[in-house]
Amino acid sequence: LPAEFEAAKPVLDTIIAAGYEAYFVGGSVRDTILGKPLHDVDIATSAFPAEVKQLFKRTVDTGIEHGTVMILDHGTGYETTTFRTESGYQDFRRPDQVTFVRSLKEDLQRRDFTINALAMKPDGTVIDMFDGLKDLDAGILRAVGVAEERFHEDALRMMRAVRFASQLDFEIEPQTQAAIADNAALLTKIAVERTRVEWEKLLMGQRPQRGLRALLATALYRYLPGMAAHRAVLADLMDNADWHLPTIEAAWTLLAWITERRQSTQVRQLLKQWKTSNELIVHVTAAVSALASLQANGRLTAQENFATGLDALTTANQVAAILGFGQPLDQLTAAYHQLPIHDRHELAVNGGDLIRTGVVTPGPAMGTILQACLTAVIDGQVANQRDALLDFSRMAADTKSD
Ligand code: ATP
Ligand code: MG
Repeated sequence: LPAEFEAAKPVLDTIIAAGYEAYFVGGSVRDTILGKPLHDVDIATSAFPAEVKQLFKRTVDTGIEHGTVMILDHGTGYETTTFRTESGYQDFRRPDQVTFVRSLKEDLQRRDFTINALAMKPDGTVIDMFDGLKDLDAGILRAVGVAEERFHEDALRMMRAVRFASQLDFEIEPQTQAAIADNAALLTKIAVERTRVEWEKLLMGQRPQRGLRALLATALYRYLPGMAAHRAVLADLMDNADWHLPTIEAAWTLLAWITERRQSTQVRQLLKQWKTSNELIVHVTAAVSALASLQANGRLTAQENFATGLDALTTANQVAAILGFGQPLDQLTAAYHQLPIHDRHELAVNGGDLIRTGVVTPGPAMGTILQACLTAVIDGQVANQRDALLDFSRMAADTKSD
């Protein structure tokens, strides 16, 4: 057992000692068998939420209406979910009704793919009711039960399929893939934020080519915001043998670039469609414009370096490497570090200084002069010293009023 399971074992043992069943389930079992690192430990139990809560001193109701209670044990939280069935998916995304049951089999049956429908006892014995082990061994993603129905119940599962194809380097079983192709349009029923998480995981997976191939073969890409018109570039990306996107920022920078969204407004529009954070928009916008400079000049000017910042510069160069015009990173960062200042707050004068020394009166001219100071300091034309900058500002103010 992996260390995470060993640590969680007493929790399962407590539930079992009280007369209920408890298992490790879902992705953590799949990843354990594959020998991959775990990022969460999911526990399923026949005990109902109220029964789980009685057994432990400290619990949190993280999703009690769906049967999920978090058990706090030695500083770690374990999400424990009561066996359940789901029914009445009228909107192609969420079940209208969740029913708690005492049968493990019914719980495993509602899960998306056979490799995600495995359970493990605390002693490490695997319970494999849907031939998940065979598929895990063969590298196959297969829907549990009738694929068509499963994607009707929850259209997000189609994105999960292509995401796992990329993350695990697995093949989607033909009937499962055909059902995705038939139902691809249902993806529009899913909240874009949820689709985005899967899309990002696909792009950052170990074999993104594989996820893209399935995405194109099933036409699922047509229902990804801003991607419908870009089949050809996605196909190019798929055919590009070896690339790996280390971060979400790099993934979006690459996407914006290959879909010809190179102006800030276009990048922003794409990311707004996907409802990403503003922080991401700022980063990707900067990285895309740095990428244009790297392509054109193989380097950034001092002004560009300042505007880009180290993080977006690093992202830009990661993407440039994939596109075939990456630069030695140490060279790029050295140029960045040589900037006299790295943030406008480091400027040795501010608006207050300009007013107190009588260089300007409050108003729009002040902003213009401060901007001129900033530009001059970054270019190394004026030292970042108060007196030098006040002299420079006076000159700039005189020129302006002439
Ligand atoms: P990850 O490695 O990203 O955590 P995961 O398979 O563990 O992948 P989770 O979202 O953590 O995914 O879900 C845990 C388990 O719950 C899954 O392995 C699967 O059994 C089940 N599950 C999750 N989402 C769905 C879904 N949309 N439909 C059916 N079963 C699902
Ligand atoms: Mg998980």
